[in-house]
Amino acid sequence: PYPPSPTFQPVLERIATEIGQTPGRGRPADYIPALAACDPRRFGMAVAEIDGTVYGVGDWRQPFSTQSITKVFTLALDLAREGDELWEHVGREPSGNPFNSLVQLEYENGIPRNPFINAGALVVTDRLQTRTGDAAGTLLAFLRAESGNAELTFDKEVAASEATHGDRNAALAHFMASYGNIDNPVPVLLEQYFRQCSIEASCADLALATSFLARHGLRADGSRLLTQSQAKQVNAVMLTCGTYDAAGDFAYRVGLPGKSGVGGGIIAVVPGRCTLCVWSPGLDERGNSVAGVAALDRFTTLTGVSVF
Ligand code: GLN
Repeated sequence: PYPPSPTFQPVLERIATEIGQTPGRGRPADYIPALAACDPRRFGMAVAEIDGTVYGVGDWRQPFSTQSITKVFTLALDLAREGDELWEHVGREPSGNPFNSLVQLEYENGIPRNPFINAGALVVTDRLQTRTGDAAGTLLAFLRAESGNAELTFDKEVAASEATHGDRNAALAHFMASYGNIDNPVPVLLEQYFRQCSIEASCADLALATSFLARHGLRADGSRLLTQSQAKQVNAVMLTCGTYDAAGDFAYRVGLPGKSGVGGGIIAVVPGRCTLCVWSPGLDERGNSVAGVAALDRFTTLTGVSVF
């Protein structure tokens, strides 16, 4: 549906210049020391075309903490294995609540609202753990294969720090376990989840790893991970739930399926065309990168490329 474009490089450069001139761009996540130390002025942005061409600006090759961006990949990896049965254990409605909220779980019998709030992501990782015996390892292998970067790895310091400050996630997991919605022992699940969140990758790596969602389910090697319909479903859940209680504003401003993480990264998908990843560690009060959302907003505004 889009006219062929050799490259979005000039648009990226314009955006980087504009962002560089905008002061005051949020604060890094401070719940663990490893994230609090990030410089909020860092900024990188990459585009991956569906043929695997990737380019970018700024710190687009700098690894950062992927955090909740990984929830997209665990969702896809589990959906590919168990199909629709997953949706009996996690919903697909926006929560309108913060990413680490507990409040809706009691009313909804331990079934989290969607796979992208922490409660829902814990359920997905639990189910992937049951099916693979190593959820975080399965995720890492997938990210390495799709990005072509065999050096991607866990940040042990971040994973340990998550565990030390993990009371909220532990509470979510135990609470859902009390409803029978967690299969593995909670400590096993938490270890997998914290390792998952600690994976370091760059904008280039993540834009490439997300490409299967722009290719309607096809992986980099041409094999199929998701059916066309499942790829559509994952994109839809990203659009409605990918930026927590700011998903409405993100859809309004950016108009693309997207997923943020508290490391300051955001991935976004233009189905049939390309994927984007932007990184800047300063967050707004809902946990989304301020400069990241602004950059994606400018990208879709300047190019006219969006799902609308
Ligand atoms: N590791 C973080 C947590 O579970 C991930 C949250 C996020 O990126 N929104 O609290």
